[in-house]
Amino acid sequence: MSQSTSRSQERPPSFVYQATKRAGQRGAEALHCDKLPASELARRFGTPLYVYSASMIRERVKAFEKAFHGFPHTICYAVKANSNLSILRLLARLGLGFDVVSGGELQRVLRANRAAARRVVFSGVGKTAAEINLALRSNILAFNVESAPELQLLGECARNLRKKARIALRVNPDVSAETHPYISTGLHQHKFGIPIQQARELYTLAAQEKSLKVASVSVHIGSQIRDIKPFREAMERVAELVRELRGEGHDIRYVDAGGGLGISYDQSDNDAFPDRVAAYAEALTAPLRDLKIHLLLEPGRSIVGPAGILLTRLIYKKTNGAKKFLIVDAAMNDLIRPSLYSAHHEIVPVQPDSSSAEKVDIVGPICETGDFFARDRQLQAVNEGDLLAILDAGAYGMVLASNYNTRPRAAEVLVDGAKAKIIRKRETLQDLLRAESL
Ligand SMILES: *Cc1c(COP(=O)(O)O)cnc(C)c1O
Repeated sequence: MSQSTSRSQERPPSFVYQATKRAGQRGAEALHCDKLPASELARRFGTPLYVYSASMIRERVKAFEKAFHGFPHTICYAVKANSNLSILRLLARLGLGFDVVSGGELQRVLRANRAAARRVVFSGVGKTAAEINLALRSNILAFNVESAPELQLLGECARNLRKKARIALRVNPDVSAETHPYISTGLHQHKFGIPIQQARELYTLAAQEKSLKVASVSVHIGSQIRDIKPFREAMERVAELVRELRGEGHDIRYVDAGGGLGISYDQSDNDAFPDRVAAYAEALTAPLRDLKIHLLLEPGRSIVGPAGILLTRLIYKKTNGAKKFLIVDAAMNDLIRPSLYSAHHEIVPVQPDSSSAEKVDIVGPICETGDFFARDRQLQAVNEGDLLAILDAGAYGMVLASNYNTRPRAAEVLVDGAKAKIIRKRETLQDLLRAESL
């Protein structure tokens, strides 16, 4: 088994190397998404191309549901990780709710599945009156309120619409989670949440407003958190707060644990996903065990991250002195994670046919030194015209894409078994210029 094959075994049932059949004969090994060769998808839909596996998304949701089985819970998928309408519809059909952070994301959920609105929680530090009113009219499950002035505005909006808004205060538990500083949120210096010591005061204020129904406590300590301990620590502090609030007469029925469970981008993790999510579930639920609480979960990355790849074609090989560059047709405008967070993504050839490896920088065509996918990476030798797959690109990939360098955004394809469906057309130059005038 080649090195890259053994790596890809950690992403069953999708994105594995399989022998392609040609005229009934066993052909060479090639990367597949479910039953379809990635090369065929590139031929049909062009590159750069985001490819998602529906079966893998279902598997991961199943693992979540199994891990939390026996504890009353609702999974509210964090829309911002991947907000494609077809992905949202797939998740809504699995019974999931949604965590939205803007009116736009709420509109997406309504478009994908109107009935899912009652399983929506609305997070974010800067909700506007228009966004709040849309959410009130849609009868969402709860607002995660992040400040005193937001609480006041929400109270006013709900009063005007003669609605009663279910609320949580998003508390900042002041636990440190080791992740990239840009995606850590649970420390007092971050803009998110209300310091846990000030929360009780604000809950009292909320309870005095007839148009608000105090129902929940929420936290979200950051993203791509690999260590389970901070989750348990945050939940212990939340559990303590729930007891205090109940002691003061507040009817707290929900705890929203946020998202943040990390994935193994570098494949260093030997535990399978179901085992990791089980450990995560244990950490969250243990401190809440005797509270008779309904748990809300907001996973994003851990559901869709490994279920997507970015397919790209090698345009040029270039050597500058001792450096070898592979210039591919995808760029930082398609997937910004390496440039923005120094994130690691595994990159594999779609048709490995060489055992020799070389050290390369894999870069895009954009005029920025920061436009790279990997630096000094050992990669099997590939040729101009070959396809590469950037793995674990299903979360915070397409949603962060831009048009920098006037590059139309990539197409997105959803594969289910032997079927592939285009779920977002490749952008055209016309699309790009439509809003501009001369
Ligand atoms: C981003 C975010 C999430 C999802 O985080 P993941 O790391 O993708 O699981 C959940 N809740 C809130 C409030 C968020 O901002």
